[in-house]
Amino acid sequence: MPSWYRMPVMNKPPIPLHNAIDIAALCRMDPCDESAVLGSFWLKSRKSFESKLVKAFKSCNPVGAYRPHISLLCQFYSELIIARAGTEFDWVVRVLGSQEMRAEPDRPQSALIDMVCARTSAVSPSEMFYRIGVRPPMRSVARLAGPDALKARLQYAAQDLFIRPKQIGGRALLIDDIANTGASMRIYAFALKEFAGVDRVFAINLAATRFLAGKDGRGLLKLDTGSLAAESLAEVWVDDRAFHIDQNCPAITGKAASEVRFVAERNHHPCPTCAVQKSSKRRWWQFGRTI
Ligand SMILES: [Zn+2]
Repeated sequence: MPSWYRMPVMNKPPIPLHNAIDIAALCRMDPCDESAVLGSFWLKSRKSFESKLVKAFKSCNPVGAYRPHISLLCQFYSELIIARAGTEFDWVVRVLGSQEMRAEPDRPQSALIDMVCARTSAVSPSEMFYRIGVRPPMRSVARLAGPDALKARLQYAAQDLFIRPKQIGGRALLIDDIANTGASMRIYAFALKEFAGVDRVFAINLAATRFLAGKDGRGLLKLDTGSLAAESLAEVWVDDRAFHIDQNCPAITGKAASEVRFVAERNHHPCPTCAVQKSSKRRWWQFGRTI
């Protein structure tokens, strides 16, 4: 065989993962080599700022309408991801959102992995995972907790998911926003190892949904917001009338809820007592969006 000869690249057909995975085996064994969760997501919590922060992240869709705030938020999360997982990765892969058929570039999750890639030498393998149907969010169709939750979630997450098999090898950082049972991570990690030849998978979630008033085995799990310096990402307080910068503002009526400032500015008027003087006259969405 001449030295210039290369084997022709064989395009293998995509693999439907519901046929390829053994649900019982994935229940018993997590194929992720390491896992980490950055913080907690408390459903319906009024006071949990970190829950509002991850909700704000997910709501920045498409990202072009939320710059520069989504870029600052991605920067914040990417620093925490790298602090936890390191930089020794070849690939950064993300889990598809429930409304996505393929990884859409204008989603906040894509902006986040782009930033992680930019800060490491890793790259994102394109178009590896895709789905054939859009479906309702997982929490609306399956129980969140309980002994059968993981099995139900594995079946749900795999039902219409495909991988394009391609030997890429190396180490992968797998990123998802909010974890429930970890089922998606198990399926993606299994598929990366089985059909892409990936050696090691580090799975990281921005937050985990909390149950049982925190007695769910996850411990305290508090997001480190110490590096959250941007004013637009600061915590403010929202009541029926306005958003407040001062949590103890005398104008607050009833119970105020924690919120991320740029989300509050978009949806509420500034409080005349504590927010107007400290706010710019122009709202953030009136500034150029190309920053
Ligand atoms: Zn106020």
